[in-house]
Amino acid sequence: MSEADGLVSEPDSRVSAADGQTSEADGQVSEPDNHVGEDGEQSRLVLSAHPLQRVGAYALAYLGKAPSPERLAPDAFEKAVHRVTEDAVRAALVRDTRSDKGFWLKSSLSFFPNSKMNHLSNAKKDADTIGDAVREWRRLPKPQARPAVACVLCGRGAVGFFGKVDVPLAESDLYRNSTPRGHAGMALCRPCLCSFHALPYGCRLTGGPSIALHSWDEPFMARTLSRRVERNRRLIALGQADPRGIPAREVLALHALRHHEDRLTAGVELLVFSNNNRGQTLEIHTMEQPVAEWLRRSSRPPRRRGFPALLRAHATPDRPGVVGLARNAFRSPDRIVGACGRYLTARLDRGVIRDDTAELAELCFSLTIEVMRMNQNEVDEIRTAGAQVAAWLKAENSAGELRKLNATLKEQKQMRHWLMRRNIDALLDTRDRIKGPLVTEEQFRLLFDPEVEQSWLHRQLLVVSVVQRLHELGFKPGDRAEVAAAMADEDKEHPEDIGYMKGEES
Ligand SMILES: [Zn+2]
Repeated sequence: MSEADGLVSEPDSRVSAADGQTSEADGQVSEPDNHVGEDGEQSRLVLSAHPLQRVGAYALAYLGKAPSPERLAPDAFEKAVHRVTEDAVRAALVRDTRSDKGFWLKSSLSFFPNSKMNHLSNAKKDADTIGDAVREWRRLPKPQARPAVACVLCGRGAVGFFGKVDVPLAESDLYRNSTPRGHAGMALCRPCLCSFHALPYGCRLTGGPSIALHSWDEPFMARTLSRRVERNRRLIALGQADPRGIPAREVLALHALRHHEDRLTAGVELLVFSNNNRGQTLEIHTMEQPVAEWLRRSSRPPRRRGFPALLRAHATPDRPGVVGLARNAFRSPDRIVGACGRYLTARLDRGVIRDDTAELAELCFSLTIEVMRMNQNEVDEIRTAGAQVAAWLKAENSAGELRKLNATLKEQKQMRHWLMRRNIDALLDTRDRIKGPLVTEEQFRLLFDPEVEQSWLHRQLLVVSVVQRLHELGFKPGDRAEVAAAMADEDKEHPEDIGYMKGEES
């Protein structure tokens, strides 16, 4: 959170800040008349439908100190492009990707293979020759050399055709961006082309495949990319890799969501790609808006009290919880409910209710309503049933009974049987400790009717509700020590003996 949020202050102050920083490599702009067309069209960024172009455009905007790509003025655009080119020259002059300043050059292989930046023969060339070649590669084609066609991304005038050297994969590897024999590639205008050249600034660089986070939510893009570019600029200046190491790729999305203050209006996509000659790849992982927004809210105040429990619920001995949570969020958000349920019930067989139950149960319910789009009335029905079951268990004051309920969790027939049985017990109970049935007919239908969609989810929620209510009631059953002792004895038994008792063959 200490990192600069960037891109949020007034554009005017940004521009003047840029002017004050001309001591850096972005001093004079060469051949401005060649770059800026009559209406400056070739110096104005436009956001297209191509996610990687958009990431690059935001990176350029940040480098030019503008709040958004569209608001990057032509002269600031030229400065930003100049800086990108000079960074490429500086990286090329390192010549050796294995040197301790070679990270930026190494990363460029995944974006611009076969380019003048990383040509094999560079090792034997002098600095001026390499610098001239890189600048020539990035130079705007002369007007007479431009084709009379539109840019395939934004529809403005293209300045040439561009292939693999400049543009990474736009589609899955089934559509490799090698071009047909005799054809030069995609028609692009200069601002779209420059967006691709600036793309590395907007990615998490690994030295191998790069990771880009993309969304159609523009404020999210501005904020996330500003942080990424800020960090990459430091790393590019040093030529070194991020000393923090590489987190699981999905976790990048969680970090970005946590830092974002406004409601998300779109989901987020994770693009993992490499344009390297040794293997072009593109993977796209999508997190839908509801789960992205839920994660954003859950990891920030006022909800974030339950977040540590959510992480613990997803942790395994060899994997931190944040990785499991991020993966579930991208692949299958309903697994988050399952993970919470398993965590909350993990010690029920010992009659133990976890201390963090209340916070995690609330997150779990919010997920089912906001993400799983579960009907509020149905959630209320399930919670009512859960509260009744909890009241009955509390009245029984028995860890043994809780243990029996726990044993039914994996088998819905057993659970149904257990609930029906206790329903009758409660109705016949002359001490009248519980008002009404434990589970009504309608609630039974929600839990077990094969016609009811998501009845498995309802059963998960029932258990969460029971545990949550027991926690509220301060459930500490009288026979807990007894149960724990009996279980300790069981633990001591030899596995072969237990197997024999269960009738298993070794
Ligand atoms: Zn274009």
